[in-house]
Amino acid sequence: MAMTGVEIFKLLPKTNCKKCGFPTCLAFAMKLAQRQADISACPDVSEEAKATLGEASAPPIRGMKIGTGEKAVKMGEENVMFRHEKRFVNPCVLALNVQDSLSDDELGGRAAEVAASEIDRVGQRLRVDALSIEFVSGDAARYAAVVKLAADKAPDTALILNCTDAGAAKAAAEAVAARKPLLYGATAANIDDMAALAKEHGLILGVRGEGLDEVVDLTAKAKAAGVNDLVMDGSPKTAREIIEQNTQVRRSAIKKGDKAVGYPVITNCVREDTMVETAVAAVAVAKYSAIVLISHAEKWKNLALFTLRQNLYTDPQVPMQVPQKVYEIADPAGDAPLMITTNFSLTYFIVAGEVENAKVPARLAVMDCEGLSVLTAWAAGKFTANKIAQYINEGEGFDKVTNKELIIPGQVAILSGALEDKLPGWKITVGPREANGIPAFLKGRAA
Ligand code: SF4
Repeated sequence: MAMTGVEIFKLLPKTNCKKCGFPTCLAFAMKLAQRQADISACPDVSEEAKATLGEASAPPIRGMKIGTGEKAVKMGEENVMFRHEKRFVNPCVLALNVQDSLSDDELGGRAAEVAASEIDRVGQRLRVDALSIEFVSGDAARYAAVVKLAADKAPDTALILNCTDAGAAKAAAEAVAARKPLLYGATAANIDDMAALAKEHGLILGVRGEGLDEVVDLTAKAKAAGVNDLVMDGSPKTAREIIEQNTQVRRSAIKKGDKAVGYPVITNCVREDTMVETAVAAVAVAKYSAIVLISHAEKWKNLALFTLRQNLYTDPQVPMQVPQKVYEIADPAGDAPLMITTNFSLTYFIVAGEVENAKVPARLAVMDCEGLSVLTAWAAGKFTANKIAQYINEGEGFDKVTNKELIIPGQVAILSGALEDKLPGWKITVGPREANGIPAFLKGRAA
């Protein structure tokens, strides 16, 4: 169970020396309890207190990483049940599962599909993060060869060895050990061999059981064998079981400090029907799975899951925003259209994308409205005629504008009269209400 600020305070030197950057030991203790400070900031704390606090301040869900390099994926470290309490930490890993019974060409194609899945959305790079290779052929040599082939075709992608045959897993693990794959397939029948294999290569071990009780028994065995990095799979069969199991794990780890379930969860969402699979995967993304196995990576499906994941794993306390500036699109001349919007990331990327789609050189003035969208910023008094006029008169980047015409979002057409008063010599034009009207609007002006 996490320690309270007062419990932590009792372990500190209580000299109020301020070396930690806080005015008192109690203030520092409160920040430690909220996980907003690190004990290393106090140079005078005893080693004993450090050890106690270090243990108490470790995240209730153990943090770990699959893979190496830039595309290694982090899991765990979660502290809260609900996103509005603080934020979720490590976005769940979407992993494409392929079976070793496919032909080499098919496997190469699926691996390349994962490697090429990356898209840019609202300024973030999103992708299918991992490739899971499932052992179904019954041929250990074939499995090792397929794992090697997949590793070569997706050179930086995190790998999951989805295999319950200890012999086959051993050959495959040896082939790609340097890539630090997840070894996913420890069961009641093979736990000793799998734990030994994970320990030998320093791999995370995925433990599968029929229900959480069995998984907890197996994780205890793996831990006793010296494997500390574990992920759990209680084999939920339905979306409802995913919610029930995952909620139970998260609640026990976070609310009760139960270390026996303090590990990330992997959920196999593979279904025959791709629509059903996507719906089940969405449930797993929304309800605490750290790794979600899927069997198809079509673009529509990726976009749905990427968007859901991105929305859940952004920090609700920090509006997503882009810097205030005049963005130049397609090398505009001085008399190119000048549009204005707010600095909410989603607004900026949607509007900028539509301006690019128009293929008409233009300027997009993005005004700092503390990350609020156009209507919200207007309603909050941050996107008013006065403030817009001040930005146009004093902001940077307007010196290249020669035509003195400002295109405002259609949703704030009401500002046009006041803006003409505040910006003498400027023509105020009302643009489309929705961003998708921008290409036709700009092309119509250029014609
Ligand atoms: Fe207290 Fe340590 Fe901070 Fe000094 S540095 S105020 S002793 S917590």
